[in-house]
Formats: sequence, C-alpha cells, structure tokens
Amino acid sequence: MKRELGIARCGLACCLCAENAECGGCDSDNCPDSAICENKACSIEKGISHCYVCEKDCKKGLLNKIKPYGFTLFAKRYGLDRLLDCLEKNEERGIVYHREGIIGDYDDFDDVEKLIEFIKTGKR
Ligand code: SF4
Ligand code: SF4
Repeated sequence: MKRELGIARCGLACCLCAENAECGGCDSDNCPDSAICENKACSIEKGISHCYVCEKDCKKGLLNKIKPYGFTLFAKRYGLDRLLDCLEKNEERGIVYHREGIIGDYDDFDDVEKLIEFIKTGKR
C-alpha cells in the first residue's frame, strides 16, 4: 500500500489502486477519467480537497458506486487516518482492493453499513 497517495477526491483508494505504479493519484491528473470526473470538477469548484469533507450526502459521479461512496462516508465519520489504518490492516489480512481489473473485495456489497463494518473488521 502506498499510504502517501491516500484516497482520490471521489473516495477511490489511490493508495491501493492497481494503477498506482504509474499514476501519482487524483491530483496528478493521471486517472483515466480525470478530465471528465464530476467529483473532481465539483470539489475543485467548491475549493475542498475531497468529497469526504463536503457537507452534502451526494451520489454524483463515482459516488453512485458503493465502494467510493462507502470510503467517503467512512472518512466523513471517522477521518482519513482511521480509513487508511483499516485499509492497511485489511491488506495484511489478505483483503484485496483490485482483484480482477477494478473489482476487488470491497465491491461486492449492497448495503453501505455492511461495507463500513467490513472496512473496520475485515470480516463479512
Ligand atoms: S488511477 Fe485513479 S484511483 Fe487509481 S491511483 Fe490514479 S487517481 Fe487514484
Ligand atoms: S457535492 Fe458531491 S461531488 Fe461535489 S464535492 Fe460534494 S460530495 Fe463531492
């Protein structure tokens, strides 16, 4: 895990992303959808670093997917450091962020509270 890359504006985990050998994270503009990313454009316009510091409960752009939405909600509730601590611990437990392409162990959830429990405990 490249902890220093943290999470993208939308909540995707740059620190664990399979692309992060070449990509320097969200603000490097190397994310494939950087130019059209609604979350990036909106958060820049609002002058905030990430969607997790926004006051809105929003499902715009990538926030309509459970993984970035859940990571954003987690960071809103518990802070970025706790999210990164949990992701680090889960990686040690063998939980894989990108197992096949962009799909991994954090994607197969319908209920965001269950995803948040999984981030905290590594158990489902
Ligand atoms: S491709 Fe996107 S999610 Fe992956 S490291 Fe780059 S900015 Fe982050
Ligand atoms: S309104 Fe939505 S997309 Fe815009 S910064 Fe807030 S959470 Fe992100």
